[in-house]
Amino acid sequence: MLEHAEKHDWRRRYLDSLETLESRQQHWAQTEALLRQGLSRLSLAADGVDPGLDRQLEELRSLLRAARESESLREPLERISEVVRHLGDGRAEAAPNGHGGPGLLGRLLGRGATASGGSAGDAQRGRLHVAKNLLQELAEDLLGQDATADLVQRIGQADSEVQVYNLGHELVTRLQPAMRGSGGASAGDGAQPHEILLRLLEHIEVPAELGSRYEDIRQMLLGAAAADHTEEALMAIADLVADIRGRAHRDRAEIESFLKQVTDRLGEIDAAFQENIERQREGYEEGRAFGRNVDMEVKGIEESVNRSQDLESLKGALRQRLDGIRAHMQQRRETEERRISEAEHQVQRLNERLQSVQHESDELRRRLKEERDLAMVDPLTGIANRFAYNERLQLEVARWMRYGSPLTMAVWDIDRFKDVNDHYGHQAGDKALALIAQLIRKHIRETDFVARYGGEEFVLLLPETALPEGVAAAEHIRRAVMDSGFHYADEPVPITISCGISEFRAGDTPQEVFGRADAALYRAKAQGRNRCVTD
Ligand code: GH3
Ligand code: MG
Ligand code: MG
Repeated sequence: MLEHAEKHDWRRRYLDSLETLESRQQHWAQTEALLRQGLSRLSLAADGVDPGLDRQLEELRSLLRAARESESLREPLERISEVVRHLGDGRAEAAPNGHGGPGLLGRLLGRGATASGGSAGDAQRGRLHVAKNLLQELAEDLLGQDATADLVQRIGQADSEVQVYNLGHELVTRLQPAMRGSGGASAGDGAQPHEILLRLLEHIEVPAELGSRYEDIRQMLLGAAAADHTEEALMAIADLVADIRGRAHRDRAEIESFLKQVTDRLGEIDAAFQENIERQREGYEEGRAFGRNVDMEVKGIEESVNRSQDLESLKGALRQRLDGIRAHMQQRRETEERRISEAEHQVQRLNERLQSVQHESDELRRRLKEERDLAMVDPLTGIANRFAYNERLQLEVARWMRYGSPLTMAVWDIDRFKDVNDHYGHQAGDKALALIAQLIRKHIRETDFVARYGGEEFVLLLPETALPEGVAAAEHIRRAVMDSGFHYADEPVPITISCGISEFRAGDTPQEVFGRADAALYRAKAQGRNRCVTD
């Protein structure tokens, strides 16, 4: 009896575990599909934006590939088989077969054929087209672009269903070894997806207005449950990058539309000037006509004087002529006045136009500067970001090369920062980060420059400063941080920082100097932290 119960229990547990395994696998397949979808969206949005970003994307892709070279390959393989099967037996347009429908391709093709409503030949061409695209997509997706360039090309060139069928088989054959060698591959340094995403995030330059969204994603990835939020974070990053791009597009569109406005206004102004010239010419013509009229009247007077027999008739003729002259003059005055007032109006209109152009361009310049300033600031700490650092570095290096005055660089890293996060939480870590950034800024000269270089690293440029003074300045900062008395939630949180210092020497590139400072920082860590070490 007991034996039976035990056996029964064992059986149930076995079945339960099978079920769990199955649902876990399903969950993973979904996760993976989401990741892949997010990744391709991200690639679309971010490709070529930044070499570092591209590298991270590639890393993530290979991680996904590695994950796929296991059990989960089965599902896409089945999809391919389905494609191939439907192509092969020509049942692509068949009615739904029982419960599952005619399969992916069949569904696609069925819809394509009814939508186009064309002849059987159209439907067949449409079907071939869809099948080719699908196969190409699968090939790139599953093998990676490099490995399949030739296959993808050949699929593109295929012009019969038999050819596509054979190429589908070829793809399946190529995938078999990957399936057998499951579990062997690993992505880069073995980092987890959320860790890679965190690194990826560091490569994205975020305008200040999007800073809070950036922070939300980062917090998600730094949090305890980061591994469970990978897909969500990836989607959010993709959206963020798309928005950054969109913003850049909008800015450009705005400037373009402004330039168009300016061009239009200038065109109007030009036309107004042309009109003015025309008017002047008209005025000149009218003046000449007036002269001719007056001449005619005066000649009439001469004739009347010569011909008149008596004073009365002379008087009458003279009065008539003088009235004529007065009427001409009156008319002339009126047209002149009208012309003058029109000209005045026009000048006023032109002035208004010019002023509005001026105002708009001032406004645009101000906004561009404001946005540029914001784009240079790290939202968490309020100090310069890496983008601003790169700009400033160029400037200081140019100055150093030109005038030969000394230039020193210090690279900072917070000590045991992971422990701060682990013990007091990420919010405490963030607070500490912001405080340290502000402390550094407070303790440097106006001509010095500090930026947040990465997660918990800062870089400091000290122009006109040789190594010994650089060390003194760095020590000053180090002590200020150590003595800051930082508290979080009423608890004292000890924080210290270390730095590596290097001075620019003749022939140095900035990368070399940074490398030396970074190596010195490494030694500072090795020697026990909370110290400044020179190269
Ligand atoms: P070390 O003294 O050797 O530098 O030790 P460490 O713990 O500081 O070194 P490590 O580089 O291993 O850890 C850095 C940690 O900094 C990991 C990451 O969780 C944390 N971090 C990076 N950026 C941020 C941030 O913006 N906010 C918070 N709260 N933590 C961050
Ligand atoms: Mg570090
Ligand atoms: Mg550190």
